[in-house]
Amino acid sequence: MGYSLSKDQFNSLLDALKKSYTVYGPAVDPDKGNYSDTDRITYKKINSFDDLVLDMKTYFSPKEIVYPVREPLFHFSDGSFFVPHIDEKKIAILLRPCDINGFDRLDTVFLKNGPEEDFYYKRRRKNIRFFMIECAEGFDNCWCVSMNANRTDMYDVAFRFGKEILADVKNEEFIPYLVGFPQTEVDIQFIEKNSIEVKVPEIGSISPESFDLEMWNEYTSRCIACGRCNTSCITCSCFTVQDVACGTEGRMAERRRRWAGCQLNGFTDMAGGHSYRSKNGEKMRFKTMHKINDFHRRFGKHQCVGCGRCDDVCPQYISFARCINTLSEVVAERGKNEQ
Ligand code: SF4
Ligand code: SF4
Repeated sequence: MGYSLSKDQFNSLLDALKKSYTVYGPAVDPDKGNYSDTDRITYKKINSFDDLVLDMKTYFSPKEIVYPVREPLFHFSDGSFFVPHIDEKKIAILLRPCDINGFDRLDTVFLKNGPEEDFYYKRRRKNIRFFMIECAEGFDNCWCVSMNANRTDMYDVAFRFGKEILADVKNEEFIPYLVGFPQTEVDIQFIEKNSIEVKVPEIGSISPESFDLEMWNEYTSRCIACGRCNTSCITCSCFTVQDVACGTEGRMAERRRRWAGCQLNGFTDMAGGHSYRSKNGEKMRFKTMHKINDFHRRFGKHQCVGCGRCDDVCPQYISFARCINTLSEVVAERGKNEQ
């Protein structure tokens, strides 16, 4: 069902929605940019159309809304424990198709990766609705088309923000909010070509020899293991678990999980001082293989959705797109030499 709205009508829609939903979207975080006196675009609560920033990519993805950086799992004391309550109010997120596909990858990890669903992810995720922002042109540093993540039908409402605002409503839950606005045909478009194209190696073409390629050494010297690529990524889902004393008398503790990342030092540290991957090039290799090979072998789709945020945020100007393309070239060349 399609509707046409003016900006004022969109604001009326937001006002009506806010009684039952918290609405998040891309917005300005003043003075939080990487350089002095610069802003950062990130996900924030939206109160009106003017809060929305639609012409710039967000630095962070919206995953934090469903999967917080730090989440208490339970509190415990003297043989008893309790799980903290969360705000059960429903949440609508204004986001682009790549990020909806990113949530599909998070759903896969937290809800479909073994016999048990992740309780903490599920209790937030069930309250999430996706308000897709039509993205027919993308940004300079995106390669969602190469990752087959430019399209999705996993939205509740899709919006085209132009001179007028068009809404394509898929979830009937939202029709009562739009009744009364003019109805119209809405044919939501998806980007078909990015300025960056990435060639992902064929699944099955990565051999154990790919682990020792010279290309990984470049990242050992350039990567500083800051983990920005992990924290900005919509599909990175790793966490570590900590027990932390809390309460005034120190008789209570909180078990919490907090984001971790494969590029960070210490991520693979084990008892006895061992570490699987101590060189930063080895970490890059692991991340690359996981994003564009191993996840696909297990779930039939790439984990990376080509949002390009890892390239946007890297202080060392490391391009993950270029890394994937180089790997493809090296693997293809090696295949030719073996024929
Ligand atoms: S690896 Fe980079 S491009 Fe791929 S989903 Fe993560 S941040 Fe986006
Ligand atoms: S953002 Fe760049 S420098 Fe930082 S860990 Fe990732 S690849 Fe390394």
